[in-house]
Parts: sequence; C-alpha cells; structure tokens
Amino acid sequence: MAHDLVRIECPHRSNPDGTIDSICPRCYTTIGTSTWEYELERLEAEHVCNTIELKFFETLKKKPVASARPAYAVQPGMAQMRG
Ligand SMILES: [Zn+2]
Repeated sequence: MAHDLVRIECPHRSNPDGTIDSICPRCYTTIGTSTWEYELERLEAEHVCNTIELKFFETLKKKPVASARPAYAVQPGMAQMRG
C-alpha cells in the first residue's frame, strides 16, 4: 500500500470466451481483459482515468433542464407561528 489509498470498485463482466473484462466505473473504459482476477486487480491499480472521456461523461450528466433555481427565502412574517 504505497500510493493506492483510494480504491475504486470496478465491475467485472464475464465474456462468453471465459475472459473477464474490468470496467472503470468513472470513465467507463475497459481497464483490461483477463482470465485471472488477480491480473485485473493489478491493472485496476495501475489504471489512470481517461480524462477526455471523463469530461465527456460529465457533460452528459449535466442536464440543461435542471436550471439553477433560487432557494426559497423564508419570509420572517410567514415563518411566525402562533403559540
Ligand atoms: Zn477510469
């Protein structure tokens, strides 16, 4: 454990030919394909996210519909409660 403090969990996908793909959950890149899970773990540890693709996916997440809406300001007169 030298620099690998933050471990991301990468989903594995089994292929019909018996190999396993490791997919990065952040940049959706296939990190590696192997029949050996230990090999995939090694590749995952070495994986560096493709920042260009990462930015592409982040722009997709930004929905133009969700426009910035002002938070409702609590008016002092309305917030008073009778008691
Ligand atoms: Zn990645």
